Amino acid sequence: MEKTRLQALQNAFGERLQKDVPLARYTAARVGGPADWLLEVHSVDELAQAVSLLWREDVPFIVLGGGSNVLVSDAGVREVVIHNRARTVHFDEKGEYPVVWADSGANLGLVARKAAARGLSGLEWAAGIPGTVGGAVAGNAGAHGGDMAGNLVLAEILHRMGTEEPVREMMTASRLEMTYRSSLIKRNPGAAVVLGASLRLEKSTPEAVQAKSDEFVAYRRRTQPPGASMGSMFKNPPGDFAGRLIEAAGLKGARVGEAEISTLHANFFINHGQAKAADILALINMAREAVFEKFRVPLALEIELLGEW
Ligand SMILES: Cc1cc2nc3c(=O)[nH]c(=O)nc-3n(C[C@H](O)[C@H](O)[C@H](O)COP(=O)(O)OP(=O)(O)OC[C@H]3O[C@@H](n4cnc5c(N)ncnc54)[C@H](O)[C@@H]3O)c2cc1C
Repeated sequence: MEKTRLQALQNAFGERLQKDVPLARYTAARVGGPADWLLEVHSVDELAQAVSLLWREDVPFIVLGGGSNVLVSDAGVREVVIHNRARTVHFDEKGEYPVVWADSGANLGLVARKAAARGLSGLEWAAGIPGTVGGAVAGNAGAHGGDMAGNLVLAEILHRMGTEEPVREMMTASRLEMTYRSSLIKRNPGAAVVLGASLRLEKSTPEAVQAKSDEFVAYRRRTQPPGASMGSMFKNPPGDFAGRLIEAAGLKGARVGEAEISTLHANFFINHGQAKAADILALINMAREAVFEKFRVPLALEIELLGEW
């Protein structure tokens, strides 16, 4: 990074801006090289200030939540990585329906557990999904028939989509054009950041909510492998399942180094310990080629590749 820009960032962030930080431990797959610069933010205002300053200084950045939907390259990341630890969560049960307001760095599964403990239904589908509320809004995370678009009342977004100056405003799911595992945020990398979100809930009982969550978690345990992964590697193509296609192409259990296409669910790629990002990428390419050759179906990544490849 250019010296004067770096000085401006160091003046603004002090010791919160760390140099050469290995990213593997910030990711669910436990792989990836270093971030040249990593900045921890602990509140929504810190996140907004950081993003505004980086935009002003014209320094590219990436917001990292739980790192559960990204594959970071072995060479690491040259952009500034903002690690989002803004985690305040509060419930409001006084209105027409209950809502939870969560900062974008709050863990989605934890928000779901807190709602369950209060007897508030609506987020059972999210029990067991790793990552943050911000990552879940950006990628419209979902499972078991539910998704973020279905719960979202409003998301607070800082953006400069179509504007010169950063704008901080509330947006609905339709304004965010949330589609299957995507949104306006995801389709405009670097141009918008989720600061927080309010999610619609319904009054129920702790027992009923817990029972439904437990059922979903048990289903996950039966059908998805444990171990370090990124969840589903590919989006399901229309009318089919990526896992079924990869399995039918004969790739269940395929290995490169310590990376493996799970023997339990072929859309999960597991790091058995010392896998490199390059090993996982080799499996990704292998799966894409085999499925295309056999079925003429192009597989689109659900996860995102970050860093220098
Ligand atoms: C075991 C396992 C199971 C999973 N099961 C599911 C599942 O059932 N359903 C599902 O949908 N997903 C699933 N996932 C994937 C993942 O959990 C979700 O995509 C999750 O919502 C990602 O959130 P995150 O905070 O980890 O995002 P990250 O991986 O940190 O980031 C993902 C993308 O979102 C962007 N982003 C993150 N935070 C923000 C923000 N505040 N503002 C703007 N952009 C942001 C990042 O820049 C990046 O582009 C699973 C993953 C694992 C490891």
